[in-house]
Amino acid sequence: MKKAMIALEMAVIILAMTACHTIRQEVGSLGNYVQDDVTMQQELSGPTRQNDCLSGSASFYTESEAVNFSLSVTAKNTVSVTLSETEDADGCEIEYTARNKEASPVPTLRLETNEKTTVFSDLIPNEIYSFRVRVYQIIQNEKVYSKWSHVKRITNTMNQKQIIDGATYFGDVLITNKTYALPEDYGTGLKMEVVNAFREMASDAAKDGITLWIVSGYRSYEMQVVTYQYNVNQSGREKADRVSARPGHSEHQTGLSLDINSTLDSFAGTPEAIWLEKHCVQYGFIIRYPKEKESVTGYQYEPWHIRYLGKEKAAEIACTGLTLEEYFGITSRYNED
Ligand SMILES: [Zn+2]
Repeated sequence: MKKAMIALEMAVIILAMTACHTIRQEVGSLGNYVQDDVTMQQELSGPTRQNDCLSGSASFYTESEAVNFSLSVTAKNTVSVTLSETEDADGCEIEYTARNKEASPVPTLRLETNEKTTVFSDLIPNEIYSFRVRVYQIIQNEKVYSKWSHVKRITNTMNQKQIIDGATYFGDVLITNKTYALPEDYGTGLKMEVVNAFREMASDAAKDGITLWIVSGYRSYEMQVVTYQYNVNQSGREKADRVSARPGHSEHQTGLSLDINSTLDSFAGTPEAIWLEKHCVQYGFIIRYPKEKESVTGYQYEPWHIRYLGKEKAAEIACTGLTLEEYFGITSRYNED
């Protein structure tokens, strides 16, 4: 399969065929997806699925080769479907539909392509899309198909920027980083759902012999003035900016972020850090500043700093493997930089 990407406009998909390697057809209503969606939801909350919950696989007809595919929300109402490398397949079919809560039925559409990655752009905001994939080989001019993969669902959340009480949101996610600041008077403490999620996580960690505690939770603007100045005094402004936020730019002021156990680099690789990275998404948290993403997030790797997003959103974002900045297509940079 070729690696080139083709962009398909959703509006156009419904009306007409566009790309030369594609054949589309309407194959019925979305009703037949419902049962598989239930399975998908169970998979999403399962303990071992958090990192690959939006990938699926189709058994090739020979049963000797599994064809995997992954789904991700790339940016701005766009979903990409990528098939793993498979030499035997001559092409694939992607079947997809939107789950529309309105009474009017939404057709299930089928797309035939021999591209490795297919990008679906301009999807309807906030609509839930279901995808499944099968591959085929051409043998004596006949297409021989694999079984259909399981159905994978993805919510196309609208990520519009909006400012509420001086705080910046993308979709319903509050963003505080080097680009987007909070007002001085924002926040009063940790949000209750964060405390509850942490308690649940710490309690489950204890069952695995892991002790988790909060070393830093909510930090007010005034406290951040002190914290940041301390770091500047210790190591200069440039180094301070890599490890701590300027006042108004700290995620700790949101009441949604926690530092767990230790903020020393030596925390990385400890059983606690490994447990946290593996499991925090189940409780609605993400590791906010992952390894090798400093140029994107504006911060060095912080295995201790987790950000609460709620279980559903955390799972959705963790599945993409993207940082919040990449997910929303935004920057984390101070104005004068
Ligand atoms: Zn932190």
